[in-house]
Amino acid sequence: MAGMSFSSLSALETEIFHYIEAHQSDFIEDLKEWVAVESDSVQPHLRKEVMRMMSLAAARLAVLGATVNSVSLGSQQLLNGQHLPQPPVILGELGKDPKNLTICFYGHVDVQPARREDGWKTNPYTLTEINGNLYGRGATDNKGPVLAWINAVETYRALKIAMPVNFKFVIEGMEEVGSLGLEELLEEKQGFFSDVDYIVISDNLWLSKKKPALIYGTRGNACFSVEVEGGDKDLHSGTFGGIIHEPLTDLIALLDSLVDPTGQIQIPGIYDAVAPLTDEEKKLYESTEYDIEEHKNNSGVKKLLYNTKEEILLHLWHYPSLSIHGIEGAFHEPGIKTVIPAKVIGKFSIRQVPYMELSDVKQQVVNHLENVFAKRNSPNKLKVSMPLGAKPWVTDVNDPLYKAARRAIRTVFGEDPDFIRDGSTIPIARIFQTITQKRVIMFPIGAADDGEHSQNEKISRRNYIEGTKVFAAFFLEISKLRGQSNETSNPGTK
Ligand code: MN
Ligand code: MN
Repeated sequence: MAGMSFSSLSALETEIFHYIEAHQSDFIEDLKEWVAVESDSVQPHLRKEVMRMMSLAAARLAVLGATVNSVSLGSQQLLNGQHLPQPPVILGELGKDPKNLTICFYGHVDVQPARREDGWKTNPYTLTEINGNLYGRGATDNKGPVLAWINAVETYRALKIAMPVNFKFVIEGMEEVGSLGLEELLEEKQGFFSDVDYIVISDNLWLSKKKPALIYGTRGNACFSVEVEGGDKDLHSGTFGGIIHEPLTDLIALLDSLVDPTGQIQIPGIYDAVAPLTDEEKKLYESTEYDIEEHKNNSGVKKLLYNTKEEILLHLWHYPSLSIHGIEGAFHEPGIKTVIPAKVIGKFSIRQVPYMELSDVKQQVVNHLENVFAKRNSPNKLKVSMPLGAKPWVTDVNDPLYKAARRAIRTVFGEDPDFIRDGSTIPIARIFQTITQKRVIMFPIGAADDGEHSQNEKISRRNYIEGTKVFAAFFLEISKLRGQSNETSNPGTK
C-alpha cells in the first residue's frame, strides 16, 4: 500500500485491495504466461506467435464473461512481396447496464524484438523477478498494463461485486509496427463506440521512478526532406572546386538556417500558433517530479540548453523543437574522398505542438527554405517535401475523467499524480479522440526506468499490483460521474 494505511478507504475499496494483494502471485503467473509468448510483430517468422497471443487475450476476456469479437484484418504485404496474416483486433464487451457509464480500454499484446544476446540479463521471454522487478519483454509495454486492467475487472467478478461500469476492450497485435489497419477498423466500427463514455490508454510511462503520472498531451511530428540537386553526376573537386555552386554547400546553409544555437527555430511564423502559456500550466511544470541530473546521466548529455526543470519541461512539451537527422548522398565513410556530390537530401523534423496546423507548418518551412535558397543565387534545384506528418494531442486536465483518475491514484498511492505531456509522438490517443469523439485519457502504470523497447524491460511488482488497484479504484471513481455532463468539451482537437 505504498506505506499508507487503509483507514481512509471505503469498505468496498478495502475488500477489493485486499483481494488484489492476496492474489498477486496469480496475477504475476498470468503475466508470466503472456510474456512467454514471443508475440514480436516486427519479425515475420514470429507472426504465428502474435496470432497465438491474440487467441490467449481473447480467451482471457471470455473468461471474464466478455463477448469477444476478433475482427480479421486480412493480410499484410511486406516490401519483398511476401504476404503475412495480420493479427485480428479484439473488440470485447462486458456489461450493458444502461445505468452505468462505459469505459473502453485500449491496449496491445504484441512486443518489440528481444534476444538474450542483445544484452539481456535474463531470458526476455521468461518473466523473472529480481529485487521486486519483473523482467521480460512486454512486461511494461504493454502486456503488464493490459493484464492489470483485466485483473482489476476480474477482482470485481471474483468478489461478486456488481460491476460499477460497463467495459469495452480494443486489443491489437500490430502496435509495434504502426498499428496497421487499426485506424480504418475504428472508422468502420464507429457503432462499437456509440455508447462508450471514456477511452483509457495505458501504454506510456511515468516521468519518475516512484511518482505516478497522468499524460494529457503529446507532440506531433512533421518530417521534412530537402533536396538540392546540381547535375546528374558527382564531380571532382580538383576540376570543379571553386567554379560551381556545390549542392552540399547549399544544403548545409539551408540546414544551418533552421535553428539557432539557443534552440530557437528560425522559421518565420513557426511559433505563431503555439498556445499561450497559462499560469495553470506553469504550475504543473513546477510541481512535476523530474530529475535533470538523472536524465543527463542516462543519456550521456553533458549540458542541456536550459538549466531549470521548468524550462526543460516547457521546451519538451509546450514548444516545438526542430532536429536535423541526416544527409543522404553525402560522403560519410571514413577517409578522404575529394568528391562534389551531385545530389544531396537533408532530413529534419519538427515536433510540433497544439495548435500548429501541419499544412501551415509545411508552408512556413517551404517559404523559409526557398527564401534562404533564393539569396544564394544558386542554379541548383531545390525540392522540399514533408513525407510524414503526425498531429499533436492535448486534453484538459480539469476534465472529470482526469479528476477521477487523480482520485484513484491518491487513494492507492497516497499522493497526487504529476500531470505530464510526452515530447514524443503517440498517434493513438489522437486517433481515438478524432474518430470516436470521446474523451481519452493516457493512464500509465509503468515507471520511468522500465526500459520499454530496451534490453531488460521490466515492470516492478509494486507498479503492476498497485496499478491493478488503481484501475479497480478508478472504476469506482468513474461510476461516481454518472449523471454528470458528458459532452466532449473542447478536447483540444482543433
Ligand atoms: Mn506500447
Ligand atoms: Mn512499444
